[in-house]
Amino acid sequence: PLRAWQRALRAQFPIVVDHPGLAYLDSAATTQKPRAVLDAVHAYLTTGNANASRGSYPWANATTAMVERTGARLKEFLADPDPGRSAVHFTSGTSQGLRTVALDWLAPQLADGDEIVVPFEDHQANLSPWIEARDVLARQGVAVRVRGLPYQDSSGDYDHRALAGLIGPRTRFIAATHVHHVRGGDMNVHRIREAAGPGVPICLDAAQGVGHVPLSVADLDVDFVVFSGHKALALPGTGAVWARQARGPAFRPGGWSGTPNTAGIASLAAALDWLEEAGLERVERWTVGLAARLTEGLRRLAPYRVLGCQLSLAAMSEVQRRRGIVSFRHRDIPADDLGFILFEHGFMVRADTLCQAGADDGEDRAGAVRVSLHVYNTEEEIDRLLSVLTDLA
Ligand code: PMP
Repeated sequence: PLRAWQRALRAQFPIVVDHPGLAYLDSAATTQKPRAVLDAVHAYLTTGNANASRGSYPWANATTAMVERTGARLKEFLADPDPGRSAVHFTSGTSQGLRTVALDWLAPQLADGDEIVVPFEDHQANLSPWIEARDVLARQGVAVRVRGLPYQDSSGDYDHRALAGLIGPRTRFIAATHVHHVRGGDMNVHRIREAAGPGVPICLDAAQGVGHVPLSVADLDVDFVVFSGHKALALPGTGAVWARQARGPAFRPGGWSGTPNTAGIASLAAALDWLEEAGLERVERWTVGLAARLTEGLRRLAPYRVLGCQLSLAAMSEVQRRRGIVSFRHRDIPADDLGFILFEHGFMVRADTLCQAGADDGEDRAGAVRVSLHVYNTEEEIDRLLSVLTDLA
């Protein structure tokens, strides 16, 4: 039944259907779009395109209402328990969203001697805004200490014991990631909340979470969820920040400055509807199954090493589950060469240092090949990929 369900959904992605010889395996960078999303954009632009919060004629009013409705829709999608208090701020993606939280929301509230804890080895987009906030404040004579949230290499998760030692009376904020964009592991956000206590805001980079796996802000007990709509089946240049509390300059309800990406927001509303109808639990089950198939296959091939977790799959599932992302290296073939060879066989993968902060030193400088999956990918694509990788082994 899962296979039949997947076949029906795959058929709804025109670019995938139209290119049967190519396998798109780079959904962590951006996803393909189902017809319903393309149709929603076309409908919006051909029946009522106008600026939001401007003008008082029907198209402008309808656009304003559509933007507000999409914000409400997103709160529902994230299982927001208190939508009357929270806020949604639309952005161009995760990078801009994290910058908004860092510079517009966090920085004005920090005082001399305050500390923030941020991941030093996650995506660069989840490090540079916090460093920039610190540097902006330093120029104003406010010294904020940035403490690095380390990994525990054996599990691929954060080092929660080390985290407990980093949190003190001056800790004002913690930034973390939901699903790791290289290792593909689900980071244990509950343990971060346990260590932080109830009073410290937690901001989650959910670029690889929203639209890929179910995500409930009520369950995770976080204060910000930042993601890219374009990695969740919506148009390029879309994203959002969900903030638990609608306070601070960037999160005034309705306080848009500048023209929002209204067509992108319309596409996000359609994408959320599509994902909900598809069922994120099933999307997750499908992509996790494909990732496990690939990981198991790679483990049988001596020259390949799968990144991020030294545990067996069974042991790993107890610690954290690998989602639809698998990164690996070949002992002798450099990652970019391997990426090129794979494209010659019709596979579109990412092959470089994968925007990992700190990747310019240590072994991560060598880069890796990353295979990232969504609902349109198939078992047959994974098996074909494994057969090419076997030939190169
Ligand atoms: N954070 C993570 C974990 C990501 O995977 C990405 C995209 N690769 C980003 C941030 C940046 O997203 P965007 O390009 O949409 O700003």
